[in-house]
Amino acid sequence: MTVTEPRAAVETADVRPGWWHEPFDMFQTNLREIDALLDVETVLDAIQEHGAGVWLLNVGGILSHFPSTLPFQSRNPLLEERPGGDLVGDAIEAAHRRGVRLLARMDFSKVAARVADEHPEWCFRSPSGERQVYEGLVSVCPSAGYYQDRSLDIIDEILDAYPVDGFFFNWFGFNEVDYGGRVHGVCHCDACAEAFVRETGIEQLPSFAGDPGYLEWKRFAAATIDRLTARIRGHIAERAPHAGLILGRSADILFHEANNALGRPLWPHATSESVSAFRVAQPGKPVLVNAVAFIDMPYRLASEQPEMFGQYLLQAVSRGANPSTYIMGPAGLIDYACLAPAGVVTRFHRDHADLYAGLAPAADVGIVRPNPLAAPAEVHHSSVAEFRGLFSALLERHVAVDVVPAESLPVVDLGRFRVLVLPDLIAPTAEEDAALEAFVRDGGRVVATGRSGIHADGSVVAWLPGARQRSLEDDAEALKSSYVQRGGGPSVEGSDLVPVRGRLHTLAWRSDARLRHEFVPRAPYGPPEKAHGHVVGPVSACGVFTLGRGRATQVPWTVGAAYRELGLTAIRDLIADLVIDAVGEDGTVGVEASEHVEVSVGRSRAGLVVHVLNHSGQRRNSFGPTVPVRGTRLRFRGRAADAVGTRVHHVTAGDVDATVSTVGDDLLVEIVEVVDGAVVVVPDGGDRDDA
Ligand SMILES: [Zn+2]
Repeated sequence: MTVTEPRAAVETADVRPGWWHEPFDMFQTNLREIDALLDVETVLDAIQEHGAGVWLLNVGGILSHFPSTLPFQSRNPLLEERPGGDLVGDAIEAAHRRGVRLLARMDFSKVAARVADEHPEWCFRSPSGERQVYEGLVSVCPSAGYYQDRSLDIIDEILDAYPVDGFFFNWFGFNEVDYGGRVHGVCHCDACAEAFVRETGIEQLPSFAGDPGYLEWKRFAAATIDRLTARIRGHIAERAPHAGLILGRSADILFHEANNALGRPLWPHATSESVSAFRVAQPGKPVLVNAVAFIDMPYRLASEQPEMFGQYLLQAVSRGANPSTYIMGPAGLIDYACLAPAGVVTRFHRDHADLYAGLAPAADVGIVRPNPLAAPAEVHHSSVAEFRGLFSALLERHVAVDVVPAESLPVVDLGRFRVLVLPDLIAPTAEEDAALEAFVRDGGRVVATGRSGIHADGSVVAWLPGARQRSLEDDAEALKSSYVQRGGGPSVEGSDLVPVRGRLHTLAWRSDARLRHEFVPRAPYGPPEKAHGHVVGPVSACGVFTLGRGRATQVPWTVGAAYRELGLTAIRDLIADLVIDAVGEDGTVGVEASEHVEVSVGRSRAGLVVHVLNHSGQRRNSFGPTVPVRGTRLRFRGRAADAVGTRVHHVTAGDVDATVSTVGDDLLVEIVEVVDGAVVVVPDGGDRDDA
């Protein structure tokens, strides 16, 4: 699995041509030492049967599966028993003969003890001066010479010998934690100490999360990885223009690993979120989702729940990513139950390249994702809770949303969104502030919650209806028994109340703000004899105002996090209604469907592409079988002329029973039953060119 460092900032979308710009499907056989004798033809049969046309194979790094002559590489000793002694050579010859591409999986994160002893300066050094050793392998540091220089030698040796179609780097980051979950802390090697002070001006490296300077170190670490990725990518591009680099950020192909983790609560929309954010931030680059077939690294022989795995790949393709299945060992050895549904989605993607070619996000609404490097972890986590609460709320109300990473706001074409939702974001940078103000003035609408747009000194950005912050309440005790009153009415009892949880920013509003949703402060709640006395306070919990040609709505409390905590649809609908109101009557597609489906809207060369995914199998920490969802209706406004040629596919259950009709100027698609996922394609009549 992969450690990905959060991004510090947006890198320029430096796109170069390559095979990866057409839809592709990948299969990864992650080999153990003992697998070096595998039969390449048998493995390729399985890969092609699965629907994949790209094979990701372990080539070098920790262990070389070819006769490397570099002194700092470790050749798999089992290769001597292989006729010819070269797994990579056999694999690439057989793959290319079949028209299958071969990608080289590399791992520069660890070396053999022998290499570490020869080059102690390459190694991770803990705050107390220790090496990081796991199963006999020694971790090396991205700041030091092995990553920075010898990685290029290793890549060159491979490119000299084999026409590989690209590279993937595993665990390409700083090693604070090992496979066993043991925290080793921040690397204190000489290269880190020197570079950190040079780049940040901070003399002392932090040792562990939470130490002074830790946030600055995270930014330093992310920048180091970004720079190195860009350098290696440039090197590969020069040496082998046909070969792409798959990695998290500055690569040719952007990478998300869909996986599970012991003890990590399920965020059921993780894959949708990640792919959408990549596609929005760098629309010119393809995304690969590599889905892990086992439940977590300590249980590599146990299959992921098949429906959970199916969700990974369904969410991936629905948002425009290329799907990949990742197993341990050569194909056919370990029995992974999730391979069957994985193959169905993979083959669907392969067989519908026309509708997936260039599939890009096209929702009316963008939800801004907090930047993990903008604030210390505990502050960031509260923004994430708000983001997830709002994301779920909008999904359940069938507001199609794309994810806009906050750090990308200054470079993304915001003009294509009708509405931007800002979930409890810390105060924007000057560039983000300018981008959002321009968005509103040019006719966009924002719906901001929590602290979004409120500076630390209590001032509020010019494009929100709040004038300044009067007070802040984030004490759960103090907020108990307080409410927001939806609608009006002077009498509290009998009115429509939702509980306030989380954090409330009390604002003085601008004089031209229209106010609604009064705040009802705390009154006694126990014993019952004393549970009375609530009155409507003088403070409003929502303001709306007009700026330029746009409009801004501000809800200065953590309504999304409150929904996430309590699950009350009254809270959800309070915020969802505000967003739906901001979208207006003429959004791209109106949806009538069960709350258990996710609707996403994209655009490809085939036209408008709408995915309907059935989430009814969602469980506490996984997905099980779905209940088929009946009676989904999609109304495409003003698209009646495109009724001819509109088509509907089921991803997993054969042909769809669906009707296409027109109502006035609108196109109406009714899908009788969605089992796992359905796709509606509305052709664009050939007059658009925005795929
Ligand atoms: Zn270091």
